[in-house]
Amino acid sequence: MLIVKKFGGTSVGDKERIFNVARRCAEEYRKGNDIIVVLSAMGKTTDELIAKAYEINPNPPKRELDMLLTTGEQVSVALMAMAFDTMDVPSVSLNAFQVAMHTTRIHGNARLKRIDSDRIMHELEHRRIVIVTGFQGINKYDNYTTLGRGGSDTTAVALAAALHADACEIYTDVDGVYTADPRYVPKARKLEEITYDEMLDLATLGAGVLHNRSVEMAKKYGVQLVVRSSLNDHEGTIVKEETNVERMLISGVALDRNTARISVIGLKDEPGMAFKLFNLLARANINVDVILQSIGRENTKDISFTVSRDEADAAVEILKENMSRIGGKNISCNREVAKVSIVGAGMMSNPGVAAKMFEALYNQNININMISTSEIRVTVLIHEKDAERAANAVHDAFGLEE
Ligand code: ADP
Ligand code: ASP
Ligand code: MG
Repeated sequence: MLIVKKFGGTSVGDKERIFNVARRCAEEYRKGNDIIVVLSAMGKTTDELIAKAYEINPNPPKRELDMLLTTGEQVSVALMAMAFDTMDVPSVSLNAFQVAMHTTRIHGNARLKRIDSDRIMHELEHRRIVIVTGFQGINKYDNYTTLGRGGSDTTAVALAAALHADACEIYTDVDGVYTADPRYVPKARKLEEITYDEMLDLATLGAGVLHNRSVEMAKKYGVQLVVRSSLNDHEGTIVKEETNVERMLISGVALDRNTARISVIGLKDEPGMAFKLFNLLARANINVDVILQSIGRENTKDISFTVSRDEADAAVEILKENMSRIGGKNISCNREVAKVSIVGAGMMSNPGVAAKMFEALYNQNININMISTSEIRVTVLIHEKDAERAANAVHDAFGLEE
């Protein structure tokens, strides 16, 4: 069997953890399996590197930031290979260049395009465990790129797809995918299985346990994922196309604090305004999420929308520069907001799901700023201070606890 095993930052956080991972992988290797290990940077390394960059330059060039961040993963893979060496297990560490992992051009948020499999296959044929840096790629200019925070999951799934692996296992610091982040919803329950679509929505809406692109890619190439703990042998959660378990009304609650609300007041109430405004942001590669437009009055209207918090400054700046073109009177930005979402395929055929969520928030006296819905999710924007209380209240209201 060819098995891809990905270990996150906490799982390789110190010497003991590195040897723990090495032992787990060696066990599978000795059974005769081919093993590819994908690693993240140790512990909080990526955060620390970002902080260092900003100490030097409050606006670091994106190419150089990627150059810096990719060192984190390189440390992990080299140390892991050294650990295997002490155990007399043959292994080799490879970075994005050595593999090679080709991505789009964009620094900080590149997409994987193609993986050369020759080098990895060659190493596997020589019965070496292949240890690959997660999160990084190279672009057509031979520069390092990164795949966005949490992107090592995507590296693992891409490798599993490209090499037709028999299994893709994502090892992390929780036992699997829960009905909500167990860090702040103590009653959250581990799911045995979840569909790609539900997982994709949860991941996109803030459930950081999997990088959303990894789920997108797993669905596209039919890679079945197992999410489980690197610290115990508990069965994890299987992410796949169809689940056998009886479908619940909702499968989970997600909370996302990485959001900010921008409001543009007094836009002209005429055709093309939304296009002009959002086109400016699209051209700057800024993703817009929940959008709310007021009803026009006295020939003006207001548009509010959310962007990720780290892009809020850039978005405001672009809009201010173009105020005369879009004709707005005022722009404001609120960073003290959070998104709480419920996700579940079961809500498609059940009216009243949104109302139930709103009731749970009302009972907690939590005010809703914006609402957005799709067939299988409802998202509300609320004050950040209410976020955890809201997530717990909604989780309770839908009876998701153990
Ligand atoms: P890794 O470094 O292993 O990639 P991450 O921190 O990226 O780990 O992801 C694991 C974390 O995701 C957990 O510690 C947990 O707090 C968080 N998380 C958020 N939502 C969920 C969820 N629905 N189920 C499980 N964990 C979740
Ligand atoms: N080290 C990167 C990050 O912290 C990638 C990852 O952990 O998946 O975002
Ligand atoms: Mg992660």
